Amino acid sequence: MVHLDQTWQRVLQSHDYPPAISALLGQLMAATALLASTIKDETSLKVEIRGSGPLTLVAVECNSRGEMRALARWSDPLGNIASGGLQALVGNGLLVMTTEPPKGERYQGIVSLEGDTIAIVLERYFRDSEQLPTRLWLSADEQRATGLLLQQIPGEREEDSWQRLQALTDTVTHQELLELPREQLLQRLYHQEELKMFASKGHEFRCGCSQAKVGEMLISIGRQEVEETIEQEGEVKVDCEFCNQVYLYDQQAVADCLVIRMAMFCIRPGWRLLHAYADR
Ligand SMILES: [Zn+2]
Repeated sequence: MVHLDQTWQRVLQSHDYPPAISALLGQLMAATALLASTIKDETSLKVEIRGSGPLTLVAVECNSRGEMRALARWSDPLGNIASGGLQALVGNGLLVMTTEPPKGERYQGIVSLEGDTIAIVLERYFRDSEQLPTRLWLSADEQRATGLLLQQIPGEREEDSWQRLQALTDTVTHQELLELPREQLLQRLYHQEELKMFASKGHEFRCGCSQAKVGEMLISIGRQEVEETIEQEGEVKVDCEFCNQVYLYDQQAVADCLVIRMAMFCIRPGWRLLHAYADR
């Protein structure tokens, strides 16, 4: 089970989300925190919903240290669609789930978006792509994003227990999810079961963007365009959509980013080239 309070409120501060969008973003955030906790090692998880409707993107990232960031992109005004479900907002959509271990290759699973809630979409993903029976109960308001995950342990199929635990958890209400302390809620739901609670783990909002990283990205997507813009306007301004931090790049800043890029590229062969660049 997860309760995100400050982490979620910090995400809400970055943009003025319409209620229908923030509800989805909060639910996906709670779900991502829960799913990230099931991944071993230092692997980070990114969950995205990409749409063709007024809602074009919902993206949430969580690493093994519980550091999270999230955003949604949409076109105003939402009008009547705001009261519809996920499908009305997203249109023809995709669910993209990316896991990235610290070393080795990242893994990406993509499925078409079927279902009218984040929980249903993710449950289908786990059923069809991972053959891992999974249920999610998610809720979000302006204060808290919260969720409960029930997942079979791979290799252990006890159909009776699985059915019973689902039926017990299905009695949970949005109000209980949002308002009750975790221990109290778990005891209420599973009081007939033998319950073993583990120590809780924290989450925090952390974007991870920096002058160097954003500069790197700028250069890699269009160095020539960046240099032309600086020539005409003196600088290029980039703001991070996740945290609203603004980064400015003039000629010197772009040159600095090129040095960093070179350093990253040359880190294995040695430091000579880095020094050559830094000396200039
Ligand atoms: Zn940022």
